[in-house]
Amino acid sequence: MERDFQHTNELKQIVPSQTCLACDVCCRFLDSKSPFAPIFTDEEYGKALSSGLLENQFSITSDGSSRQIQLKSHQDMFICPAFDPKTQHCTIYRDRPLDCQIYPFMMMWSADYQSVLLVVDRLCPYTENQIQGSQFKTYIDEMVEFLESIKKNIAQNYSLVSHFQEDVIVVRQLQKLTKLLVNRCVS
Ligand code: SF4
Ligand code: SF4
Repeated sequence: MERDFQHTNELKQIVPSQTCLACDVCCRFLDSKSPFAPIFTDEEYGKALSSGLLENQFSITSDGSSRQIQLKSHQDMFICPAFDPKTQHCTIYRDRPLDCQIYPFMMMWSADYQSVLLVVDRLCPYTENQIQGSQFKTYIDEMVEFLESIKKNIAQNYSLVSHFQEDVIVVRQLQKLTKLLVNRCVS
C-alpha cells in the first residue's frame, strides 16, 4: 500500500532520547557544505517556515522538489540553524523532516548506483553497540516497510537518497524504491 508522506510524524524512534541528549553527533557537521545536511520535501519545507525557519536558509536540490538546509558556523563546526546548541534541542522537533526522523538510518545509492540501500551511519555510537540486537532487527524490518510504502514520495524527492559513502553499515536494499529510481538521473 502506498502511504502518504504526511504520516511521517508517526515514525517510531529507536535511539532513546536520553542517549541522544548526551551525544554530540546529530545536527552538527564538520563541513559547511556537508551532503548530510537535512533535506526537506516541499511540504516539510512549508512546515519549517511556519516553525520559524527562513526561506534563505534553504537551497533547492537537484531533484527540483526538495530543499537542503544551509548550515551555519558555530564554534569550530557547522550546525543546522534549527539546532539550539545551548539546550541541545531541535527547535522544530515536531516538524523535523523525514530525513532527520530516520537518522541514524539513511537512504543511499550503492557504489555502482544500481541499488538504493538502507544504511546506518557508523558515527552514531548507539547504533555501533546495538545493531546486532533483536530490537534493532525488528526496527529495520519496520523501517524498510515504511520507506517502501512511501516510495513514490521519496522518488519525487530523490535528493533524499544520498550519494554513496564508505563509512556506513548497509542493512538492506530498498527494492521497490530501487525499481522506481534506478534509471533516473541522480546527479
Ligand atoms: S548520533 Fe545517534 S545517539 Fe547521537 S544524537 Fe544522533 S541518533 Fe542520537
Ligand atoms: S532539523 Fe532538527 S533534527 Fe534535523 S538537523 Fe536540524 S536541528 Fe537536527
